[in-house]
Amino acid sequence: MTSSHAAREIDTSRPHSARMYDYYLGGKDHFEVDKQAAETVAAVYPGIFTCARENRAFMHRATRVLAREHGIRQWLDIGTGIPTEPNLHQVAQSVVADARVVYADNDPLVLRYAERLMRSTPQGRTTYIEADVNNADALLNAPELAEVLDRGRPVALSLNALMHFVTDAQDPYGIVSRLLAELPSGSALALSHCTPDFDPDTWQKVTDIYTGAGTPVQFRSRPEVTRFFEGLDLLDPGVTVGHRWRPDETPTASDAEVSLWTGVGIKP
Ligand code: SAH
Repeated sequence: MTSSHAAREIDTSRPHSARMYDYYLGGKDHFEVDKQAAETVAAVYPGIFTCARENRAFMHRATRVLAREHGIRQWLDIGTGIPTEPNLHQVAQSVVADARVVYADNDPLVLRYAERLMRSTPQGRTTYIEADVNNADALLNAPELAEVLDRGRPVALSLNALMHFVTDAQDPYGIVSRLLAELPSGSALALSHCTPDFDPDTWQKVTDIYTGAGTPVQFRSRPEVTRFFEGLDLLDPGVTVGHRWRPDETPTASDAEVSLWTGVGIKP
């Protein structure tokens, strides 16, 4: 895809979830319309900045644990987002220099920045696929994926802050099991997911803002998030609020501020 083609597809007149998320993280890759929508969310849910930061921190810790303790050398990261340092491959390659990472996102804006995701170690490899998680078959059959991942060996499927953009009508559990079915024993699922559990009224407002801006969302309860790990062996401490999953330091934020269920499971 040429950049002019990508540019045509980038709609700067409407807020976009990836660019709003970039704003929450203090990035520079968003437009005024995204900032305004993000500030509307922050007005009802000031924890959003903590939530976004803790979400990234969970990804860092989960990636390191999988590389150090579970022999994972390959990742499939769907819903990558606009690149934010350190990106997943940088975390993984800091533990194992030859780590291989396939990134996928359906936002043309992410494609535009994808070269930042390609700065791999010489021993490792990364690639980027423009793909929709709702079309798991096309994603799994992408030739770039076959070039980078050895599907005979364990792969960690990384779905961070993605599945709340897949509503029940789109069969989120079917999609995750379809993806996991393709991966061998010893593979992993690392997942984070926003939740209304600690403050339902606020999260209803957040849902309304996203849906009103043209991005349907479905934030889920702990049992609903736990269901994504069905058939997997959950690593300790199970499905926990993001900042309580194997923290490096004693957590200080409240559960309501973070409002993110996280977990890591291994395929038996
Ligand atoms: N995983 C990153 C970014 C999360 S933001 C992190 O946790 O830090 C959510 C990302 O999911 C956005 O970049 C958005 O474009 C992407 N996304 C949303 N719906 C998607 C879909 N159906 N298929 C692929 N990517 C999707």
